[in-house]
Amino acid sequence: MNQLNGKKALVTGGSRGIGAAIALALAEQGADVAFTYARSPERAAEVKQAIEAEGRKAAAIQADAADPKAIRRAVDDAAEALGGLDILVNNAAIATYSTIADVSAETIDELFAINVRGAILTAQAAMQHLPAGGRIITIGSGGADRIVGDTGTIYFMTKSALQTFTRGLARELGPRDITANLVQPGSTDTDMNPADGPFADFQKSLIPLGRYGTPQDVAAAVAFLATPAARHITGAILNVDGGQLT
Ligand code: NDP
Repeated sequence: MNQLNGKKALVTGGSRGIGAAIALALAEQGADVAFTYARSPERAAEVKQAIEAEGRKAAAIQADAADPKAIRRAVDDAAEALGGLDILVNNAAIATYSTIADVSAETIDELFAINVRGAILTAQAAMQHLPAGGRIITIGSGGADRIVGDTGTIYFMTKSALQTFTRGLARELGPRDITANLVQPGSTDTDMNPADGPFADFQKSLIPLGRYGTPQDVAAAVAFLATPAARHITGAILNVDGGQLT
């Protein structure tokens, strides 16, 4: 059943990995989908084609999530291309690994600019377009609740900031009947964290289900939160992690 027929969605960082799977999952449920990317025009063109192959409208928009002006333009362009906006998925992020002892000021600033400020400003721009029944779904990380290894702390801090952000957003937008939720993936097989990477076996050993997640596993949860069936879920944190946090 196409539960998102007629809905218009924007996904940040939709050219690869989890964001690409989310863009496609929303299109499969009937939504028209715009998405942003930073540096992968060819991958973005493939995702756009795949959305169009579902019979949906698609727009691929180059916009660096570290650039406030580019974010505002991207949101407005997405709304114009699709004829409105019902769903925002804040997914774009980078992961840079360093111990606290070694991390540079530039790395801290870049992580927070893309992963936190980018999500805030995208939501700020999108909320002007969202009608009652709108959705903001942000992608966090299980690392916000459990540190694995000794080099992810600053990246994970950007993800714990998104927990507070999501709760505040749920309070602020609740009176407009717009929900805000956070999906926290565990180890998921993408360029960022390949299932055959050097630390994959260690990560798998922490997962009761004994396997990496796929981008589609995360996308399914996001698509559910976007449907009318999830209308009473807001301010929630949903782990999609094979039980990694248990
Ligand atoms: P990938 O690195 O595979 O993909 C990242 C996506 O974000 C790409 O589309 C990329 O675009 C885009 N992006 C990166 N930087 C920017 C930027 N400055 N401006 C705009 N877009 C940007 O990551 P994943 O798919 O693995 O991660 C998706 C989300 O899931 C992130 O929020 C991540 O933190 C989270 N996550 C991932 C986990 C995992 O194990 N994979 C675990 C927990 C959370 P481009 O192709 O143009 O570079």
